[in-house]
Amino acid sequence: MIIRKLFKFENAHIVRGCSSVKCRSSVHGHSYKVELLFESNFLDNGQMVYDFGLMKQNMKALVESFDHAVALWSGDDISYLDDMKKHSARWVELPVSPSAEQFSRVIYIMIDKLLALTSTVNGEKEVKVHSVIVHETDTGYAQCFNEDAYSKNMGEIDLDKILFSDEVKNDWADNELWEKIKKGEKFLNPKKI
Ligand SMILES: [Zn+2]
Repeated sequence: MIIRKLFKFENAHIVRGCSSVKCRSSVHGHSYKVELLFESNFLDNGQMVYDFGLMKQNMKALVESFDHAVALWSGDDISYLDDMKKHSARWVELPVSPSAEQFSRVIYIMIDKLLALTSTVNGEKEVKVHSVIVHETDTGYAQCFNEDAYSKNMGEIDLDKILFSDEVKNDWADNELWEKIKKGEKFLNPKKI
């Protein structure tokens, strides 16, 4: 059984090195749609794979970190990175370029890590991230599976190299959320939401 939760955010970026001159040389934005797909062969006490309501907490916080933010690639020109960070409060710096493909890998890894650290309390069993789909436009998307997320061919994604600005972190219910995930702290799902 596969279930899917849709999130949406607005994000700005430049994708260096791509074929489209507009995309590689000018800051521009997209209205992203992100689908998180989860799979399990079991159902919980509510006869669900994983209650959608539970996804509106830390998972939602992580995905919405990108909303009204600029996505920066750490390999970009240092003066560009410095200027964007100076003039735009919400930014996320990634160790890979913010193409739809890399966005889907980054979000897969973030959600996969969070899910692995989360203890469930309602009988959920063997729930895994099936894939993450990132729609950059209405007509184009990338879908990341486990083998893509952890593929060295596509660039290693080190959690320590995903940086969120203070403005982004302050928007989370717990501004230490990412630090806790990186340290491998455990999260416990609430009994009621
Ligand atoms: Zn673009």
